[in-house]
Amino acid sequence: MTPGQPVDLFRQRLGAVLDQRRATGLYRQCLTLESAQGPLIQLAGREYLNFCSNDYLGLAAHPRVVESLCRAARRYGVGSGASHLVCGHSAPHRELEQALAEFTGRQRALLFSSGYAANTGVLQALLQPGDTVLQDRLNHASLLDGGLHSGARFRRFPHNDCDALARRLAQAPGPALVAVDGVFSMDGDSAPLVELARVCRQRPAWLMVDDAHGFGVLGPTGAGSVEAAGLGEPEVPVLMATLGKALGTAGAFIAGSELLVEALIQSTRNYIYTTAMPPAVAAASLTALTLLREEAWRRDHLAALIGQFRRGAEALQLPLMDSGSAIQPLLVGDARAAVGISEALRQRGILVSAIRPPTVPADTSRLRITLSAAHTPAQLEQLLQTLADCWPHA
Ligand code: PMP
Repeated sequence: MTPGQPVDLFRQRLGAVLDQRRATGLYRQCLTLESAQGPLIQLAGREYLNFCSNDYLGLAAHPRVVESLCRAARRYGVGSGASHLVCGHSAPHRELEQALAEFTGRQRALLFSSGYAANTGVLQALLQPGDTVLQDRLNHASLLDGGLHSGARFRRFPHNDCDALARRLAQAPGPALVAVDGVFSMDGDSAPLVELARVCRQRPAWLMVDDAHGFGVLGPTGAGSVEAAGLGEPEVPVLMATLGKALGTAGAFIAGSELLVEALIQSTRNYIYTTAMPPAVAAASLTALTLLREEAWRRDHLAALIGQFRRGAEALQLPLMDSGSAIQPLLVGDARAAVGISEALRQRGILVSAIRPPTVPADTSRLRITLSAAHTPAQLEQLLQTLADCWPHA
């Protein structure tokens, strides 16, 4: 800076953020893939074994899903051109909404361009000042942000603690809504939905479940955590799930009653004031949903891989967390140590991301390993052996 020049406070502030992130081992950077998602991916000309994607069923690059996208793009073009309510809603959107409603056993489903938009939008549409929204401490940022910006009283409860929730509910004035992840995105464990539904029924309060990581993976037909818990629309009136994980595409949906969905269409700003997802993505999602329903072997194979990983990691005395899902984190604690192990794995051709604060609480940095039906048992064995080589005291 030359003498006499005014201090640029924005530059100073941004520079300080970057310095702080670098100094604490929390600096983040994107990887640039040069291939489709799958168990093997290309980065900077090198092939890696991929254990950090949420493509749980291996559908993101499935030839039938890709073909549906191309066919629909030839017919409907690339962009949807407008928001749903203007003229951006096309036949593939309608068909996908109908199929998702039927699959989740609800009257209606409503598409959103992302899970982040769905969660923030729906909570802001449902809640008013005077209401109370209660959320698990480990909920995804989109649920927390939606609750914080909803105008309602916002309260968190300790992770999966139904007694604490019941106490907070008893003190909460006004209409109350409880929102939880079905499967927690950074821990991989499940919400105790049966017990949560019981606590909500007593109050009564509405229960909303974000099943981004359970949809397509859990439940007898793959309909997710709510199906796995034997619950339905009366106990969980607001069900949200994303399309970018098990379905391998992009976007999200809310499923519920006719009343819920019609009311959301009228008042959800993230639905009204945004361009609809491309019709070809809706068409590809419909094909992915068909595959999910027809090919139960994908869920079975994934379940077998989860068992194989947990048995192997236990034998190596790796710090497994309490997860039965495709998300299998290994708890490290220190952020730099987690990055160190992730880098050592990468040098050996294996991609696993280190998850650090603020995504997870301080001193709980971890390696977030995600398994997919596209992995083979041999690839998992390679991961376990490489972990044994790279882990500081394994
Ligand atoms: N909820 C949960 C539990 C998630 O893990 C994510 C994505 N990481 C989202 C919502 C947001 O979904 P999207 O990526 O479609 O915005």
